[in-house]
Amino acid sequence: MNLSTIYPWQQAIWQHLIAYLAQQRIPQALLITGVAGIGKRYLAEAFASAVMCHTPLSDFSACGTCQSCTLLAAQTHPDWLVVEPEEPGKAIGIDKIRQLIVKLALKPQFESYRVVLISPAEQLNNASANAFLKCLEEPTTRTCLILVTDKPSRLPATIRSRCQTLMCSAPETNLAKQWLEQQGVQQHSEVQLSLAQGAPLIAKAYADQDMLAIRQNYFEAWLQVAEAKKNLLQLAEQWQKPDALDLNVLLAWLQGWVMDMIKLAYQANDQQLHNPDMKKTLQALVKRLELKPLYAFYDSLLIARSQLSTPINKQLLLEQLLIRWSQLNTR
Ligand SMILES: [Zn+2]
Repeated sequence: MNLSTIYPWQQAIWQHLIAYLAQQRIPQALLITGVAGIGKRYLAEAFASAVMCHTPLSDFSACGTCQSCTLLAAQTHPDWLVVEPEEPGKAIGIDKIRQLIVKLALKPQFESYRVVLISPAEQLNNASANAFLKCLEEPTTRTCLILVTDKPSRLPATIRSRCQTLMCSAPETNLAKQWLEQQGVQQHSEVQLSLAQGAPLIAKAYADQDMLAIRQNYFEAWLQVAEAKKNLLQLAEQWQKPDALDLNVLLAWLQGWVMDMIKLAYQANDQQLHNPDMKKTLQALVKRLELKPLYAFYDSLLIARSQLSTPINKQLLLEQLLIRWSQLNTR
């Protein structure tokens, strides 16, 4: 991984990381934060490869060919320790931190640094965060701990305060759009980016999954609810099936549609909309509706989204939202 493979929006932060190497001042603990889908983990891996490389290039980036770089590329480097949940969304259990502590008690296998990646760091639970604190309080030889998270506020202050924080920002729309187009996303790159809330890597994944067509299907069902042409209970059941779209994404879409309707009621222009491609339909919809209950519906979407991380009956949650949306349209 050298400079040319660093994402264009991370060049400045990469220079900052490289400066640590130039000054031979490897931080004991780094906390890399920023919204999801902008390449924080990739940045951490690029830094790790540079830190561990046996024959770094003159710009301090990794050579890509030495033993360390080869082992890292194969994900078999003995000094590259990744601590992550068993499954996405699950907590990082205390057993994982205990295993890490055992490994850190030994010296790194190679002469260079050892790098530990904790990602996503907010998945440390109370017990594992407490155990991990020991790693931060009693630094081990030639070891760099890197925590990656898009939710730093969920980390205990005791952990945050012991790390050097690097905040990655999302790219400007134009830069992200340019990058997406270079990746082969020629059509609707702006809408894809807007759907991904400006995160280029998510936008790329959306384009690969043809998310615009999927969104269109959901949107049409939602319109049919407004026209009282859809069985709400069946739709709710369909929407909460495990193979359906992630509910957090779906609710974000619904929020986007409702927010755009409210904005359109106030004559918003295309740049102010989340879904400029749906402008005509949304405009026609909002003309029939009263704004006050629409605001209230937006609030209930916000609340519903915050409840998704709790053990809630998702079928019921969706039924209630669809009933409200249907009622809004029939008053
Ligand atoms: Zn190398």
